[in-house]
Amino acid sequence: MLSNNNRKLAISMDRRLFLKEGAAGVIALSLASGKVFTACSPSGNSAELPAVHPAGSYDVVVCGGGPAGFIAAIAASRGGARTALVERYGFLGGMATMGYVAPISEFGFAGERVIGGIPWEFIGRLEELGGAFVEWPKGNVDFDIELYKLCAQRMVMEAGVDLFMHSSLIGCEMEGNKLVNVFIENKNGLESLAAKRFIDATGDADLCHLAGVPMQPVEDGGVQPSSFCFVLSGVDTDSEMMQQYMHHSGKHGASECKPIREKLLKLKDEGTPLPDFGGPWFNDVMHRGSVAVNITRAAADSTDNRDFTAAECRLREDIFTFTDALRKISPEFKDCYVASTAPQAGIRESRRILGVHTVTAEEYVSGFKYPDSISRGAHPIDVHAAKGSGQEVIRLEQAAYVPYRALITKDFPNLLVAGRCISADRKALASLRVQASCMGLGQAAGTAAAQSLSEGKYVQDIDTSTLVSKLREMGAVI
Ligand SMILES: Cc1cc2nc3c(=O)[nH]c(=O)nc-3n(C[C@H](O)[C@H](O)[C@H](O)COP(=O)(O)OP(=O)(O)OC[C@H]3O[C@@H](n4cnc5c(N)ncnc54)[C@H](O)[C@@H]3O)c2cc1C
Repeated sequence: MLSNNNRKLAISMDRRLFLKEGAAGVIALSLASGKVFTACSPSGNSAELPAVHPAGSYDVVVCGGGPAGFIAAIAASRGGARTALVERYGFLGGMATMGYVAPISEFGFAGERVIGGIPWEFIGRLEELGGAFVEWPKGNVDFDIELYKLCAQRMVMEAGVDLFMHSSLIGCEMEGNKLVNVFIENKNGLESLAAKRFIDATGDADLCHLAGVPMQPVEDGGVQPSSFCFVLSGVDTDSEMMQQYMHHSGKHGASECKPIREKLLKLKDEGTPLPDFGGPWFNDVMHRGSVAVNITRAAADSTDNRDFTAAECRLREDIFTFTDALRKISPEFKDCYVASTAPQAGIRESRRILGVHTVTAEEYVSGFKYPDSISRGAHPIDVHAAKGSGQEVIRLEQAAYVPYRALITKDFPNLLVAGRCISADRKALASLRVQASCMGLGQAAGTAAAQSLSEGKYVQDIDTSTLVSKLREMGAVI
């Protein structure tokens, strides 16, 4: 568990702290003397843990290969930085491909595209492969999960990024507040990656947590629930109902499948023991007869292994309970079966950093424009209830802006953050977290990291007007 205090201290302990406390430490990381982990039990017995192998030295290391991370890595590399990307799964795409979360929301506001540059290039490339269908006026994008993985990987490799897949970030080395190395674990053992700049795009702000970055407080209501998504096949996707509800930018307003929702709520009212559910949303995966289903719902802390494991096991049961119910209540689903469950349950909300600026819902909804705006958001604020089937939706007055200052902290000079762990209050995050916005944030973080190196300045000191101009040249609509 990353939040185990002893382990975290040991793994992210800075060199001075180690030298001072190492002898008495519970678990100590020795980098100066031969790259060996030494674990000391409270009884004083010590054991050697595997050696740390240096795996490379980079300008920029991006941790997390989700929508924010893979775009950040491409942006940094195209910006001239020697870049590595660390991802714990064997494919890129984050929640899109590890959580079966669809569609990619939303590139447009009132029919105008508000997110551009590398994210939009990615959608174009995916379309060329036959793996994307853009729905206007909102600019939601239906996609093929496997082609998404392929397209993201191709673009990352074409940009010259070094990929470390099947590699979990498990620690970091600090000199004061400056990150020096990250530690990753994979089949080669324990490896270190040195870099001048680091981007945390892990969704859960794992790198920031390890480095000791202050986090936003957990507000009343806890975090939004997790949902375990799955692909149902054998569905009558040609039916009128499915055609109407599989596409999220349609004219009917809400994208959840209302006829099925009403039937499920009625079953519950009549006393059928059904678990909590959201939506349901049936998402086009671009294959006739199949849909990605978002229906299950459970409160869970994704940064606590025990809590998340328990929730995921419960949700796996729920997937099959709901599949049975769907077969019974709707002719469109009478022959359906679970073709595949996502590699993991989807996480809507977890850690968010306390950055130089925290985006508030008020700023966000009103479309407040900052002098250092680097990206946009177009999706409504969308807070799913941790209990029951409720959801609070607040429509934006205009497409929102995000300032560069929400991607950086006050005290960590070579660290940037991208994606759903940026500095935002809970409600602003409830819109910002969608994929198109996260990609826009990744583009800004990667570009800023490369710029900070070419300017020879720390991330807090870069010329933000230059950054904004660069992003505009790349196609960002800011
Ligand atoms: C149920 C659900 C429904 C949603 N619906 C939609 C929707 O309809 N449309 C939409 O656009 N968005 C939707 N979202 C939101 C969206 O998918 C995510 O918020 C978005 O993917 C966040 O992007 P990210 O890059 O910040 O993080 P993630 O997508 O979470 O990516 C983080 C990446 O980092 C990797 N990683 C994490 N920790 C480590 C580590 N320690 N070491 C190495 N790698 C690590 C992960 O494997 C992952 O690849 C939904 C989310 C959920 C959970």
